[in-house]
Order: sequence, then C-alpha cells, then structure tokens
Amino acid sequence: MQMNGKHHTARNVLLLQLLVLLGSGALLAGEVAVDPSGNGADIREDTTEDTDSRSSEVTVAVENMVRPDYSHVPTIPLADAVAAADGIAEPLTLLGATVPPGMARRISWSATELFEGVPVSTPVLVVNGVLPGPTLCMTAAVHGDELNGIEMVRRVMHDLEPLKVSGAVIGIPIVNLQGFRRGSRYLPDRRDLNRYFPGNPDGSAAARIAYSFFNEVVSNCDALIDLHTGSFERANLPQIRADLRDPDVLTLTQGFGSMVILHSTPTAGTLRHAATQAGIPTVTLEAGGPSQLELNEVKLGVKGIETLINTLGMVRKTRLWGDPEPVYYRSSWVRADNGGILLADVSLGGTVRKGDLLGTITDPMNNARTELRSPYSGRIIGMARNQVVMPGFAAFHVGIETDEAPADLAEDAVLGNKASDSTGYVDGMSE
Ligand SMILES: [Zn+2]
Repeated sequence: MQMNGKHHTARNVLLLQLLVLLGSGALLAGEVAVDPSGNGADIREDTTEDTDSRSSEVTVAVENMVRPDYSHVPTIPLADAVAAADGIAEPLTLLGATVPPGMARRISWSATELFEGVPVSTPVLVVNGVLPGPTLCMTAAVHGDELNGIEMVRRVMHDLEPLKVSGAVIGIPIVNLQGFRRGSRYLPDRRDLNRYFPGNPDGSAAARIAYSFFNEVVSNCDALIDLHTGSFERANLPQIRADLRDPDVLTLTQGFGSMVILHSTPTAGTLRHAATQAGIPTVTLEAGGPSQLELNEVKLGVKGIETLINTLGMVRKTRLWGDPEPVYYRSSWVRADNGGILLADVSLGGTVRKGDLLGTITDPMNNARTELRSPYSGRIIGMARNQVVMPGFAAFHVGIETDEAPADLAEDAVLGNKASDSTGYVDGMSE
C-alpha cells in the first residue's frame, strides 16, 4: 500500500524469486522430510495438564523458530493510516498475483511442505480498496475444527465494496485446510500449527507451513485479527484477547465496539505472538466452540470486525455499534476438583456473584455430587459444554470487569490462576 510501498516491492521481488525456486523444484527435496510422529488420531480429552507430552514439542519448536528477517515498522500509526494517505491506491501484489485498486480477487496460497506430495491450495480473499490505507488481515481455522471464523471471514469479505474501501482487507478463511478436511484442530501429524509461528524453512512440517504462511501472506499485513473458538468442548463468549501492554495492540482493541476485551499475554509460537513481534499489531477474536457453526457468535464477531474497519476509517459508514466503548476484563478459570459428569448451572455471558453455583460434577459410579462455585463476582466468558471431566479440568472462565485497560495486569498473577504452567503453555486455554 501507499504507506509502505517500497517495503512491499522489495518483498515481492523475494517472493517472485521464491516462486521461481519452487517452480524449478529446488525445494521439493525438503518435502519428503516429514516427521510422521503422530498416528493422526485426534486428542479429544482435556490436555491442560502440565505433563502434556506436547509441551516438550513446543519447547523444541520455540527453539527452532527463526526470526523474520525484516521488521515491519509502519511509519504512520494504524489509526492514522487512512487520514495520512492521499492519492489513489496502488495495485496490491500478493502470492504472485496483482489486485488493482477497487478490485476484489480470490487467489491462493500453497504451503511449501505437503504431506501427500499433492499441492494443497488455500483460498486467500483480497479486497484492494480504491483509496490508499492500511492492509487489515483476518485469519481463520488455524485450528481446522474452528468453524465460526470461516463464516465470519466470508461475511466480512463479501460485505466489502472495493470502490468504497480505503486500504486493503485480506481474508484467509481456512489456514489449516488439512485439519479442516479431517475435522481436526491439528495438522495431520498431530501438531498444533499455532505453536510454530513464525516458522522455520528447515524445521518440522508444521514449522515449514508456518514459515510459508507467515512470510508469504502475514508479512503483507499492517494489522491482523486471528479468529478462534474455544477448544476441547469449551465455548467462549465472543471476545478479543490481546496483549494490552503493547500500545499498538491496545489501539486495535479499541476499535471493536462493545466487545469483551481480555488481557492475555500471547503464547510463544502463536500467530498472534509472532506477528506482533514482527511489528504487526495482532489480536485474537474468540467466539463460540469448535466443530459447530454458531450463528449468534458469528454475527457478534462480524459486527466487531466491521466496527473496527469503520473505526480505522477504511469504510465510511455509520457506526455499527451504538456504544463504542470496549469492556475490559481480568479473568480466572475455575477447575473441577473431582471427576465425573459436569452439568452447568450457568450459561455463557451470564453474570455471577461470588459463591454462586456454576455447575455440579456427579460421580456416575457412586452418585456423589460436588459443586463448583464462583470464587469471584463476574461474567461467564468461557465454559465447558456438559461432558465427563477429569479432576483438574478447566470448566468455567470467569471474567471480572475492570475500570480501564488493565495494562499492568498479568491475569494469572493477579488472580492466582493456576491455569498456566511455567512456560505459559496450556493447550486449549490459549488460542
Ligand atoms: Zn484455535
């Protein structure tokens, strides 16, 4: 775009060189170096314990990550990008395709690492506005079983009129296409793609896919919204998770209207962490649970994203959200102390007072019943679906409203939350 055209031009040259290399088969030798360590089976049980075998895998992944060899430092703050731009937009070049100003196109991204040796092509939707401005990106289904974001991307992209947009919007509805086809959170080798960003061209299959996606697509963004749902039979109230200590990220959160905002330090290896490190302010939008299309959650998410596009000045419309004030929360998970059948007494979005009954856990063998009560007054911002749980299972996520952006609050430190282990990695609790 106008604001960093030189930057993009240089990268596009590199991209072309990479594509030429790919075309010549120079990198094909790497494609057989897949580590089939998993049997492809999904892990459906709660794996939030510290002893999760993937924790060590994550540590390895973090060690092997390469720093992106560029620093994406926009000269103009995102919030001022439209106002500061003048003239007409430049053509947007991405993945070897060129999208002229005022046009929408569907192009595709193929990871350089393929499991079956057959190219897997992922659609990339691009709207290049007729006027200059920032490039806002949306990624969905980095976890292949998280469906709500796919529909959010579709709705937002098809609602945009290129002739009325300042800047560009890039939407990738299904990043983890292979997981999506199998209805799985993971890649076929059981790895969680969202623990491998920004990736490594010489690493595991997951690291290579992450590297390709990060460098060929994400590096073109000025800001990013990564769309997720709860995992392992848990659902989240539509909410933004963001590192509020980062001023650019904080600014981004203020554009979503009356959305719940949760301070959350990004886990290493997540797209949110890697992109923010590379100078691309990124937030996670969580809405609903996996393996379902939930229309209310989709609508709320779309409303938040379209409000942001308005707030950034990329589309001139009336405000979508009546009260544009974000609502900031601290949070704590309430865990089951006993195993058994979990039945909730509260619903997502409901308010609770300290001591209120959240749910019961009944031992199916001896009929012994225990109660889960809220240690705080607050709002249910995430919860498990009714299911059989093991002791330690994180069942209810209670949000506690705060007066202002809790920039200094580490959620775990403040609330004595035991959800995180020493590495900050808790599968299923982070995006
Ligand atoms: Zn996810």
